[in-house]
Amino acid sequence: MTIQIDDVRIAAMRAAFAVPRRAVLVAHKGPDGDALGSLLALQAFLLKQGHTVCAVTPNACPEFLRWMPGYDRSTVYMTNRAEVDRAIAEAEYIFHLDYNDLARTSDMAVALSHAGAVHILIDHHLQPVIQATWSFSEPSMSATAELLYEVLHAWDASLIDRDIATCIYAGMMTDTGCFSYNVPRSETFRTVAALMDYGIDRDAVSAAVYDNYSEHRQRLLGYCLSRKMEVYPEQRAALIVLTRDEQLQYHYVEGDSEGFVNYPFAIRGIRFVAFIREDEDRIKVSLRSRGDFDVNEIARRYFNGGGHRNAAGGDMTLPLQTVVGRFYQVLENL
Ligand code: 5GP
Ligand code: MN
Repeated sequence: MTIQIDDVRIAAMRAAFAVPRRAVLVAHKGPDGDALGSLLALQAFLLKQGHTVCAVTPNACPEFLRWMPGYDRSTVYMTNRAEVDRAIAEAEYIFHLDYNDLARTSDMAVALSHAGAVHILIDHHLQPVIQATWSFSEPSMSATAELLYEVLHAWDASLIDRDIATCIYAGMMTDTGCFSYNVPRSETFRTVAALMDYGIDRDAVSAAVYDNYSEHRQRLLGYCLSRKMEVYPEQRAALIVLTRDEQLQYHYVEGDSEGFVNYPFAIRGIRFVAFIREDEDRIKVSLRSRGDFDVNEIARRYFNGGGHRNAAGGDMTLPLQTVVGRFYQVLENL
């Protein structure tokens, strides 16, 4: 299935950006490889065109993503609030990358919703609720980065370079577990081939992301699998709950539990996994599934969240045991 990127919107954007503009680029809270890769690829593209760019993540991204080209030029809202608020107030264009709801930008949502700028959405989540003048919303895309590649390619292919291609590849690789899920379209691999032609180093990207953990993180993973994982063969489900105390014990830093939710799938028969983490001020839930099992619906109904059919999440300020109780409720209703 080829996704046709609408020429009318691209032409309008090309015309709008024919003169130097002030743009703010935003990715979602708890930035993952796709969020950061999309953010930095677009940052590089717009800078090459000569625009004034403020690329922001609501909070800091995990250590293992900070190698990405252009990272040093991006900003974190939590630590540079005044500067970003000013950029948002002065922005002519605001790009929303890899989220479908302003709530996913956390503390930035108020400032963004009051901004007088033209809003542009580039995202692959289901059911977007962001009102954008130009909206590129394609849930069949493996990653926002893949959709962004199509947009940039249609906009001005001559500006795509090795750094931009690297960021886009990193976004696609991380959102698909190295192309092992959420890749329904053969075109995705054609895009990877095109990115390789820009000279990206796939081995280096893979090593930078997956062979770059701390010893503490690796031991925490072992602890979660051996001591914290509960398996429910009848429901073909598994659960891992990680408390705040356990995190402290393993010197947890942001991003350390990224990907833990995928490990139980290695057990034969498992098709539904929940990972519940007790953070300082909230409970974060990650849900994953295989096949037709829809975790987007479960995230919406039980965990104040959403996402994709096979990868969703939510966060809540309820007590940990209440959130865990909701998981058991889901199991009972299966
Ligand atoms: P993760 O489990 O890796 O944090 O998130 C997986 C996917 O679930 C994300 O790509 C996003 O679509 C969705 N997601 C995660 N947390 C939330 C949340 O708090 N609210 C909503 N609406 N979606 C979320
Ligand atoms: Mn994504």
